[in-house]
Amino acid sequence: MTDAPRDLLIGTTNLAKGRELAELLQPYGFRIRTLQDIASPIDVIEDGDTFAANAQKKARELAQHLGCWVLADDSGLEVNALGGAPGIFSARYAATKTNTSASDEQNNEKLLSELANAPCSKTSGERRGANYYCHVAVADPSGEIRAESSGICRGRIRTEAAGTNGFGYDPLFELREYHQTFGQLGPKIKAAISHRARAMRAIVPQLAALAASGDWR
Ligand code: IMP
Repeated sequence: MTDAPRDLLIGTTNLAKGRELAELLQPYGFRIRTLQDIASPIDVIEDGDTFAANAQKKARELAQHLGCWVLADDSGLEVNALGGAPGIFSARYAATKTNTSASDEQNNEKLLSELANAPCSKTSGERRGANYYCHVAVADPSGEIRAESSGICRGRIRTEAAGTNGFGYDPLFELREYHQTFGQLGPKIKAAISHRARAMRAIVPQLAALAASGDWR
């Protein structure tokens, strides 16, 4: 992107998501760090009403605390028949008072049970349409949001899991044009067409402009 590599911290505690973000940024010559490289990160409370508010909050608070440029994403699954749920609550969809951190398996199980009565064939009026949504925000070391973008990936929810690639809802999320889930398709195709890939492609020109302006030191 520019001659001198720019330092950028990826602000997520989700290892799989962090790996995807790092790989998507890899061609652009950033010097990437993740929260796993940081001795004392803070825990950002995700209490925003939207993906955008949560992504901005994560980027802003981490940047202020660590004094560096931070990229954060907030993402999730929106299912038509569930009125857009789990949405911003995707990571903790199956959480309860006693089990506050739901696993991917528990979230997937809950999703299937909520959709148990949603028809799955076109002839009976399919109601399993869904999309992944991702909002990305980049904050400078003062905490000011300097770049933002979003991306959507449309698909449908299978009636049973297929494939072991990816994370979260990937074994249930089918790409209609491929007739396969992200769990089956693997990282190369996900890196080309996912919500996160689209959001990252949209933010890279903004980051290049910031680097070229000399603001990013
Ligand atoms: P966040 O870390 O608060 O943004 O929550 C993200 C959650 O949304 C994950 O824990 C997954 O449940 C879901 N999610 C977001 N992106 C993906 C994806 O690419 N594949 C599968 N699940 C995803």
